[in-house]
Amino acid sequence: MHRVALPARSAVGFLVVLSAAVAARPADPPAVTWRAAFIGPLSGPLAASGKESLEGVKLALSLHASQFGAKPTELLELDDGDDVKKADAAVVKAQQAKVDVVFAAATGVTVDALVAKARTKTGPLLLLVGSAGHVPSPLAEDPVASLVPWPADHATAVIDFLEIPCQSKKPALVVEDTPRGREFEAAFLKSLPVRMQVAGTLFVKPHAAPVKDALAAAQAAKADRLIVFGEPDLVDGVADGLAALAWKVPLFLDDGLVSAAATSLHDGRASNGFALVALPRFCMKAPDALTAAFQAKHPGTDVSLRTLKAYAMAKAFADVAVQFPKHAKRDELNEALRLLPYGDEESGRPLFDMTGRSARTLWLPRKLAATGTEADVASYYLDPDFGPLLRARPPSLYKAEPGTRVVWLTFGDAKSKAPRSIEDDLVKLGLITKGYEAQMDEWILDELLARAMAKLNRLFLKNEDGTFIPGVSFNISFTTEKPKDLKPGEFFTAVIAGNDPETGGRAWPGEGRCEIYSTFMQRTIFQKDALAPPLKSEDRRYFTGAYLWGTDSTENLRSKTIRSLLDGYAGSFALTGAHEIGHLCGLGHDTDDPRSLMNVVEGAGLRETSVCWIPAHVKTLEKFLGRYEPPKEKRRP
Ligand SMILES: [Zn+2]
Repeated sequence: MHRVALPARSAVGFLVVLSAAVAARPADPPAVTWRAAFIGPLSGPLAASGKESLEGVKLALSLHASQFGAKPTELLELDDGDDVKKADAAVVKAQQAKVDVVFAAATGVTVDALVAKARTKTGPLLLLVGSAGHVPSPLAEDPVASLVPWPADHATAVIDFLEIPCQSKKPALVVEDTPRGREFEAAFLKSLPVRMQVAGTLFVKPHAAPVKDALAAAQAAKADRLIVFGEPDLVDGVADGLAALAWKVPLFLDDGLVSAAATSLHDGRASNGFALVALPRFCMKAPDALTAAFQAKHPGTDVSLRTLKAYAMAKAFADVAVQFPKHAKRDELNEALRLLPYGDEESGRPLFDMTGRSARTLWLPRKLAATGTEADVASYYLDPDFGPLLRARPPSLYKAEPGTRVVWLTFGDAKSKAPRSIEDDLVKLGLITKGYEAQMDEWILDELLARAMAKLNRLFLKNEDGTFIPGVSFNISFTTEKPKDLKPGEFFTAVIAGNDPETGGRAWPGEGRCEIYSTFMQRTIFQKDALAPPLKSEDRRYFTGAYLWGTDSTENLRSKTIRSLLDGYAGSFALTGAHEIGHLCGLGHDTDDPRSLMNVVEGAGLRETSVCWIPAHVKTLEKFLGRYEPPKEKRRP
């Protein structure tokens, strides 16, 4: 029996087991008093942003007061002034007050200190609502959760939107000089498509302004866009630096910068460019009640993005609190938080992933304007559901890492088992020019492999650029080059080729080999969506970045269709591949969880973003593959 990967949204009606958890509370609200603390910068250059986050927490606590019982929740407001020592002291105060939860608007400066305190035996449940997320821990009982995506995800999203709508080919980076900023920059450089170049990187100490000469050097290098990554006050420093040079380069602000604390966004100094925002998919816009409550205090103003994020997190906590008629321990609250589910559209997947971060994020660019940022026409942007830009990543991004289990992913050849079939499959799907455009045909094959590897990496808890999350990622790497230094039995081979009457893949654990039946998937899933008319010379511009998105709806649709078909086909390779590689690692089938990658009864029809390894399989994978630990010289002190 082998699992068949069916298309996304094939509407298999799963029971959402966990939705009962958010049921109505008992008739008599018990008299428990919940205690919460807010920690964040309420003074100093980031005060306005801290206050936005605080307001979101307060609004959630008051709008959902009934979920906390008869008595109102006590909220302790603690100012850390974006200072490590003050943040440390604030956590101690919160602990002394025996709070049930700490909401923290953490930054690249304070996040590590806050997280370290929370991870002690007596530390609080820490929910991060600022711009910085935590360094992940693989422990299910890790008492930290956040709505901030991984730095590698920031890099991917920034790159996608740099091309569409920004049309940038040569950006320069202005990045806060914190561990978070360094990680972002490294991920950005690693994932940069061949058709883009970086004009220079300026690291700026928190709350400092960019050095004028360094900014002038980026100007001299003809940067066509400035990417800003950090806290809101950095936008002001950049805006003033550009004014001093009379340099009118457009900006591209990463998530977390749109705030009242960036005064230049509101007085016209920074009014040219885009800002990216990342929202959890479970709270992509303000509910009406939130808008009404917010506008009662700020007439005519939209709910600020930081307020919305903090609200989303505090509302999630309210959904936890309602389950406990009496006070609960940190670990019980944390466990309940980790089980909060999305609705049916996500097959009931949890809101937070196993590392405690928002499991799904929506990235959207907003236009900078003279008096703030504003939403733009969404159809002008890349649809975020179909993976990155075409040709953003080459397969060569993914390497066999020494000391890991290597999987060689290949379309095979005439003699392989199964014999190569991808060209025939692609002819049927209209996705190949049969040699008329040889280079474009190569691009298609590369695109499928690169996308499949990005997704396989994610499924094995790595970043989609192939990098590892220490302590979390399984110790496995994927490559399209046959490993030269390894003997045949020392690596796994996954051949994407061939057909089968009834299944998407098969595995031979004794041989360390599996087959992913690309013809089966073409035939049973994707044929109905085949590209018509088939791929032709004119489509080249969608692969080169020459096409200017948003100028023509027919062309937008064509480009989107090609991308979604490639992304979907590659996604089914990755899903089936992960399942078969699971077999190679010693996993059997299960029926424990409808989201399980190894569930052949109910697993069909899942999206690759919804699947998981059940705990028993995680244990086996931990034994067989191990978790990645960085070599000593790469460890942060
Ligand atoms: Zn199987």
